[in-house]
Amino acid sequence: MSHVMNTYARLPVAFVRGQGVWLYDEAGKQYLDALAGIAVNTLGYAHPRLVRALTEQIGRVIHTSNLFQIPLQEQAADRIAAITGLDEVFFCNSGLEANEAAIKVARKYGHERGIAEPAIIVMEKAFHGRSLATLSATGSRKVQAGFEPLVQGFVRVPLNDLEAVRQVAERNKNVVAVFVEPIQGEGGINVSRLEYLRGLKEICDRNEWLFMSDEVQCGLGRTGKWFVYQHAGIQPDVVPLAKGLGSGVPVGACVVGGRAKGVFKPGNHGSTFGGNPLAMCAVVTTLDTMKEEDLLANALKVGDAIREGLVAALAGQAGVVEARGMGMMIGVELDRPCGDIVKTALARGLLVNVTADSVIRLLPPLVMSEVEGRQVVERLAPIVREFLEQSPVPAATRAAAAR
Ligand SMILES: *Cc1c(COP(=O)(O)O)cnc(C)c1O
Repeated sequence: MSHVMNTYARLPVAFVRGQGVWLYDEAGKQYLDALAGIAVNTLGYAHPRLVRALTEQIGRVIHTSNLFQIPLQEQAADRIAAITGLDEVFFCNSGLEANEAAIKVARKYGHERGIAEPAIIVMEKAFHGRSLATLSATGSRKVQAGFEPLVQGFVRVPLNDLEAVRQVAERNKNVVAVFVEPIQGEGGINVSRLEYLRGLKEICDRNEWLFMSDEVQCGLGRTGKWFVYQHAGIQPDVVPLAKGLGSGVPVGACVVGGRAKGVFKPGNHGSTFGGNPLAMCAVVTTLDTMKEEDLLANALKVGDAIREGLVAALAGQAGVVEARGMGMMIGVELDRPCGDIVKTALARGLLVNVTADSVIRLLPPLVMSEVEGRQVVERLAPIVREFLEQSPVPAATRAAAAR
């Protein structure tokens, strides 16, 4: 019996090594990875530059402490400030920690402005993590159920609905921030309209709220720009990062600027591991390699080609609701639950994920080539077609067809 706590429904495969966008299991079988460990492995597997940098760093020093100077942390923060357009970086170890820091920043910002019970506007179907505060901010009952009482101070509205935000602004004077995941990942690749993001920013400016953009999954080059808010041409005050930031080494960051600059002072927040030399080496190397290999442009080109390839290959196929996304953040929504597709794909040497029950999610490593992108389409499209032809049509669709 396994002593690993039973919190995951794991697939029956273990990968023992990887190269580029390919993984190999214990029997030597090869898998094309269109998931990147859930948007984590930015540079794919065994990228020579990352391997060399990390190996050398491990030989020098892995961890010291934030009680001391950490020059690599300075370097990583400089690079993150440059790409975000923000000013201060707090380093932690995961996405929920980055979001937890963001929530604390918002509350402290409120208290400084004389608001004793600050509230944060959050979105339906958003995912922000599984700590008590971040699961309370998350718009999913499945994530929250069983962990009540929830943390208070969140007001929920639908995504892409500015009027709902305006109404909250009218009646709730405790609001201090809007927290938005501009492309919802776990929620099913739900894309914010750029007009909506600009409108949100305007409301934030008018009310002196913080604009907080959770780019833990969608950020860091995946959509062809460093961050989704840059597509909208706006500048947030708080940007939590994690997943792809260290290309597999656990690291998160809460980046602040604008109205949030200077809110945290010595003693307000901390992390034992946060920003340690090993993680910072991974950040610096990941970001430098992304620039040198032009991976933002690659993410846009190959990602869009995969999405368009899937649209073309699945055209006219009953049961496909929509293929959507931006760059290497791709969702194919079907009209029925499709979790079984993950197993079929695995058997045929392709790694994908299904989220929100009926959305096939692709988050490839940013180093995926055009040829490999085509292989993703060639492997996935027949699996989707076969699945839709063999699986029962959902009741809702049958009813609609009968009308
Ligand atoms: C994954 C994710 C998180 C949580 O990150 P962890 O590292 O699992 O804590 C938070 N926000 C978004 C948008 C995510 O995709």
